[in-house]
Amino acid sequence: MSNWHLFLFGLYLCGMSILSTSIEYLKGVGPAKADLLKKELNIFRYADLLQLYPYRYVDRSRFCKINELIGASAEVQLLGKITHLESQAGKGRSKILKATFKDETGEVELVWFKGAQWIEKSLKLNQNYVLYGKPSLFNSKLSFAHPDLELELDFKKSPIRGLQPLYPSTEKLNQKGLNNRGLAKLTKVLLPQLHGALPDFFPVHFLERYQLMKREEALMQVHFPSSLEQAEQARLRLKFEELFFFQMEMAAQKRQHHREFQGYSFPEVASVFNRFYKEVLPFELTGAQKRVLKEIRSDVRHGKHMNRLLQGDVGSGKTMVALMSILIAIDNGFQACLMAPTEILAQQHFQGISELLEDMPVEVALLTGSVKTAERRTIHSRLESGEIHILIGTHALLEDKVKYKNLGLAVVDEQHRFGVAQRAKLWKKNKLPPHILVMTATPIPRTLAMSVYGNLDLSIIDELPPGRKPISTKHAFDKDRNSLFGFLEAEIDKGRQIYIVYPLIEESEKMDYKDLMDGYESICRAFPRPKYQVSVVHGKMKPEDKDFEMQRFASGKTQIMVATTVIEVGVNVPNASVMVIESAERFGLSQLHQLRGRVGRGAEKSYCILMTGSKLSREARVRMKTMVRTQDGFEIADVDLKLRGPGDLLGTQQSGMLNLRLADLKEDTPIMDLSRRALQDLFDADPELSAKDHQDIIKEFRKRKAGKMDWGRIA
Ligand code: ADP
Ligand code: MG
Repeated sequence: MSNWHLFLFGLYLCGMSILSTSIEYLKGVGPAKADLLKKELNIFRYADLLQLYPYRYVDRSRFCKINELIGASAEVQLLGKITHLESQAGKGRSKILKATFKDETGEVELVWFKGAQWIEKSLKLNQNYVLYGKPSLFNSKLSFAHPDLELELDFKKSPIRGLQPLYPSTEKLNQKGLNNRGLAKLTKVLLPQLHGALPDFFPVHFLERYQLMKREEALMQVHFPSSLEQAEQARLRLKFEELFFFQMEMAAQKRQHHREFQGYSFPEVASVFNRFYKEVLPFELTGAQKRVLKEIRSDVRHGKHMNRLLQGDVGSGKTMVALMSILIAIDNGFQACLMAPTEILAQQHFQGISELLEDMPVEVALLTGSVKTAERRTIHSRLESGEIHILIGTHALLEDKVKYKNLGLAVVDEQHRFGVAQRAKLWKKNKLPPHILVMTATPIPRTLAMSVYGNLDLSIIDELPPGRKPISTKHAFDKDRNSLFGFLEAEIDKGRQIYIVYPLIEESEKMDYKDLMDGYESICRAFPRPKYQVSVVHGKMKPEDKDFEMQRFASGKTQIMVATTVIEVGVNVPNASVMVIESAERFGLSQLHQLRGRVGRGAEKSYCILMTGSKLSREARVRMKTMVRTQDGFEIADVDLKLRGPGDLLGTQQSGMLNLRLADLKEDTPIMDLSRRALQDLFDADPELSAKDHQDIIKEFRKRKAGKMDWGRIA
């Protein structure tokens, strides 16, 4: 027996899997290459190499002739000889290597800009080579930059024919012979040894039900597929399991949260809620609002701690749901708070809610940074004595001095403005943490939100109140400004009001303020007093001044509001029916969508005009087109996800949890849906996963969790 076999036998005795064998023991690796594999690709064990999945496959069974290449744009494979080699001086001390490559139908040029010396030495003249690469036309000559070359002799000996896997490699690995072909050879050596060592953790009936390939077959086929269809099936199976276990982890976190955290129970729905519902509520709730209220009610009824994310498009009526949840807390003898990200928004909430509750025995107070010290003290003491039932405010609510008698529910509006740490502060205000309802209009695709928001339960309002009119959206350019002013004038003459919004980005703050003030001046010139009145609001103004201007606009004293994105979140002026967004290309999709949501709230026909320069990036053009095409927040979120990727959308914190090798949250929504359904079916049939059939799933789940921790330590 060789050392290697002894080693494997030893492993077997220890009950360890061949998959955890150190990579250096694989035939063709050895200590030096093993080191490199560890450093460059994080490949430590057999299992890691097995999971170095190809990113693509190429068909190496077909050869092209050089005279067929005209117009070819994809990779091709040629057979021919190198007839001439020549190195030239490149930039600085570097060299460029050029070669002539011929077959019986013609010739092409090969070029290397890097590693010229080394490549020159390794190439042989007038011997048959197999070339693989992408041709391009350069000075009306066909040429290949850095093609993949292999002597025909070696190519014929190679075990890999037909569909060849392409692996990620690095410059350093290439130099040690671990290029794509080298890696493929190692995998080819590894796979036969793993036969029988890759049992499936999903039972057969499960595989049949969701039409999944067996695990061992998938792992073999993903590297060396017998056809592209087989490759597709193999990848589907592997993506499925990644997403399945990822969602299982989310579910486990949620369960743990409910087990660890007790919450107050609100068993009653009593006089305050009922009277509000019968006598005050000015409209019928939408079906979605009713459903979400039920979900909230079932959380808080039995002393389970609620930690819920309420997602709903702009204008879908989240505030009313929040208020009615607050009334349930009050009915059960608790206080509640509502926290908003801006002073203006806090004020609007305060006004709206105070008006609604005018005739009810409920005390509402407002606490923001601009409340004077004396008044603040009164609020503090009335809050501690329990006189105040609802406290509305900004992050001033989080200060240590703010103490409640018994805070039962905290509502946080527009959560993307708040950090996790700030939310944690709210929890500490009590013996038990108050129930938490986080509201956001930042559209996140449904599946993604459900999967990624860890221990938050999710409610979605997916229905707008009746009678909303579509907002007509146009993309216009600076040269259209004259006709824009004409249009605005006509709208104002009809009695409408107008927002004109400028971007504000910290890095270029000075320029942005200049743009805003220039814009303001030219608007004032085009719409002169006294016939027209123009408001301006931006982040550098004192809160009182901002508020004063907002009030003037809200009460209709001014017809135009020129602003930076301070108005982005939540303001409500139903008579405003036109939103002009300047330099719209500088806004992200979700911001554009939020801004547009400021209009279309009243009875009048509303418009949104996206002003941009004439030169736009491809991405910016997609954003404008999307805004013009649709008003559906979820559809917009999907496009946003495709453009930016989930990491951006969710913050690195959450995307770090994903640990996905093959699955892509941008592309694989259908597989995500399938795996979520499978997980749900599994829990429905066997809530504790106690069936014998399901033990392997649990084992694999634990293994993956542990594996992830290992990974963290190494990195
Ligand atoms: P958002 O979800 O963006 O916070 P709001 O709560 O501000 O939306 O609601 C937008 C507008 O719709 C408000 O003027 C609100 O009074 C109104 N509204 C909410 N629910 C309904 C409903 N069921 N029927 C009619 N109007 C409603
Ligand atoms: Mg709102």
